[in-house]
Amino acid sequence: MNLSIKIINQSIHLYDEERIKIRICSLWYNSFAMDIRKFVRPNIISLSAYKAKEIPCTVKLDANESPYGFKDVCKLLRSIKTNRYPDPEARLLKSALSRDLKIRQENILQGNGSDELIYYLITTFGGPVLYPVPTFSMYGIISQALGEKGIGIPLDKDFDLEIDKILLKIKQEKPGILFLSSPNNPTGNCFSSDKILKIIEAASSKSIVVVDEAYQPFASEKGFVPFLNDYENLVIMRTLSKIGLAGLRVGFLIAGEAIINEVNKVRLPFNLNSLSQTIALEVMKNKKVLRQNINAIISERKRLSEGLLKIEGIRPYPSEANFILFRVNSPDSVYKKLLKYGVLVRNMKGVVDGCLRVTVGTPQENTVFLKALENITRKF
Ligand code: PMP
Repeated sequence: MNLSIKIINQSIHLYDEERIKIRICSLWYNSFAMDIRKFVRPNIISLSAYKAKEIPCTVKLDANESPYGFKDVCKLLRSIKTNRYPDPEARLLKSALSRDLKIRQENILQGNGSDELIYYLITTFGGPVLYPVPTFSMYGIISQALGEKGIGIPLDKDFDLEIDKILLKIKQEKPGILFLSSPNNPTGNCFSSDKILKIIEAASSKSIVVVDEAYQPFASEKGFVPFLNDYENLVIMRTLSKIGLAGLRVGFLIAGEAIINEVNKVRLPFNLNSLSQTIALEVMKNKKVLRQNINAIISERKRLSEGLLKIEGIRPYPSEANFILFRVNSPDSVYKKLLKYGVLVRNMKGVVDGCLRVTVGTPQENTVFLKALENITRKF
């Protein structure tokens, strides 16, 4: 009896002691949590996290995705061994890509989307990082995250490269790497090939030049793969995101073996999961459907552009991509009013002021968008 009272007393005592300890720990933790920013590198403090806001809409034309997905691939799920790591080299997928592009497998490196490859490239080659502006925001964001200086050089009035300014900056800043998105996001145009070649040549003994061909499948120009063997400092970046597989996150680099081997050192071992490898491989076997979808987007881009031209006060820019940038009066208000019709586009405020960007959707989606825009602008 006495013994049990003693044990109970002891446990009460211990319990209090534990509570005090927990209290002290939590006070210490709270003070630590409040000061956490002190421990963060200054280049990260000034960054903002990428906000993928879910804006409710019925017609989603804001993210340069394809309106055509691949539903019937679900039967492949049975073949995936979920308990095993994926093939770290993504050999089957790379061999399919190499056959397609008529290059060697050794010239390809896989990424979890091309976003990840931008990270790897800047990690490998360092800064300063040069790019024209406006362009794809991740070149600047990733440079900053990695503590590298990002240098944006404004495009000319036709959204083409300011070649003299770029050549001068290459001389002055000796960048580790340059990014040229062609077709360019968000302007939609291809940069002049001659200018790109001049930049690659001028940078040849100093910097790596990445031609980001995310939108190449929709362009009338052939792209830079044919130049692969001519320039040791050339890297081409592609993605499957724009042709129906954005959800799988599959991007890849094309470059000389020496570049691929260096970038491969910083790649995380299993960066491309089994699901993405398997489905991408299957989808790539069906070239006919892929081509049909791309052609449908190209012909809808023409209809969309013509439709935009007919609307008073709208000025669409020429596009070689799966989206169109257009100038409009009161873009903020038009953006909000389009949402009331259920149509989500991208407001380019702060990037190309006065402009909205619309992704080419299905014929029905594009018609809904054009009709809504016509109604909205008529009332101004
Ligand atoms: N490059 C450009 C020019 C892009 O616009 C995008 C996506 N918006 C990417 C790369 C990234 O593509 P991924 O989905 O392969 O990461």
